[in-house]
Amino acid sequence: MAIIKADAYGHGMLPVARALTTAGIRHFGVARLAEGIRLREHGHTARILVLGAPAPAQLPQYAEHDLDATVPSPAVAAAVAKHAEAGAPLRVQVLVDTGMGRLGLAPEAASEVLRRLRTTPGVTVAGLWTHFATADEPDSAFAQTQLERFEAVAAKHADDVQHIHAANTGALLTLGPAPASVSPTLVRSGIALYGLAATPELAAQLDLRPAMQLTARVTQLKTVPADTPISYGATWTAPHRTRIATLGVGYGDGYPRLGSGRASVRIRGYTRPVVGTICMDMCMVDLGPPDRAPAAHVSRGDPAVLFGPSGPSVYEVARWSETIPYEICCKVSPRVPRRYTAARPPSEAPVVSPSEQHTTSLRLQDSPH
Ligand SMILES: *Cc1c(COP(=O)(O)O)cnc(C)c1O
Repeated sequence: MAIIKADAYGHGMLPVARALTTAGIRHFGVARLAEGIRLREHGHTARILVLGAPAPAQLPQYAEHDLDATVPSPAVAAAVAKHAEAGAPLRVQVLVDTGMGRLGLAPEAASEVLRRLRTTPGVTVAGLWTHFATADEPDSAFAQTQLERFEAVAAKHADDVQHIHAANTGALLTLGPAPASVSPTLVRSGIALYGLAATPELAAQLDLRPAMQLTARVTQLKTVPADTPISYGATWTAPHRTRIATLGVGYGDGYPRLGSGRASVRIRGYTRPVVGTICMDMCMVDLGPPDRAPAAHVSRGDPAVLFGPSGPSVYEVARWSETIPYEICCKVSPRVPRRYTAARPPSEAPVVSPSEQHTTSLRLQDSPH
């Protein structure tokens, strides 16, 4: 099950869904009803599970758009039983909370709810699932505990439901193949589809390569004398005569402001620091002495890589801004144009040249994997 919620983690839900459908994916997972409806409105016929909790008033739309609803509580189960009709059947997947503490039925309550739903006309129980809290940590004892709690429920219903699923990307990488007693038929993988994992160490296990690269153009260049303050708050001043590039990217594009004073970018093959406070629409890079590389070779309009295969990694940007790679991808804002390119071996990963009218751009490269 390909997880393409939150605009496919910022990569663009519709192009990603098209690529995955071509690759043979037949199950999608999204977070919200509206995301599922959007996929249907663009002609997607795959199975779609909405991972979030449905509001009872939304249930008719699940039937209308043939979306699988999550049942995370006895109250939602009751609403499902009430709304299900022979003419507008509801397909549901029962969520058990084995330790995530977010959504789901207590393991003790799951069997009773499942049995009740299975005997309600107009209801199809298509799945039984859970979600791990610590699966990104190798050898997590708590993930094992969650797995055991889930197995105990799943073992009772192996023949009752079509799909039993638990693993996200982290669980797939740290827990390995699921035990036969659970006989799972799906893995709910999100971040791996985009060539990432929670940590670079986990990503290395599958030789994952990031699909996303964020670039921005140099919109102004200037040489400043020593002691020149740069950006809001004048928190940074040039230590000596230096060349400053202004880039057309800022926190309004999703480039985290917390990276101020920590981040660097790749420009003309050199890694150079972002200096001063990152603004909403711009940030400044210190290119160094004006007569030396890279300063001597950088021109207005040149692209700088904020993150991606040809620049700093998403993991580094996440570290500079005290967050996780998921958030860095997700928050690239809608105003950043997405450009999609065909697969290329990583050695040939180009320094991107987004079209002239855009100052900021995302390149999303198909992975050969
Ligand atoms: C987002 C999500 C996933 C996907 O997780 P990844 O770590 O991106 O693989 C799986 N299951 C649920 C319930 C989720 O919310």
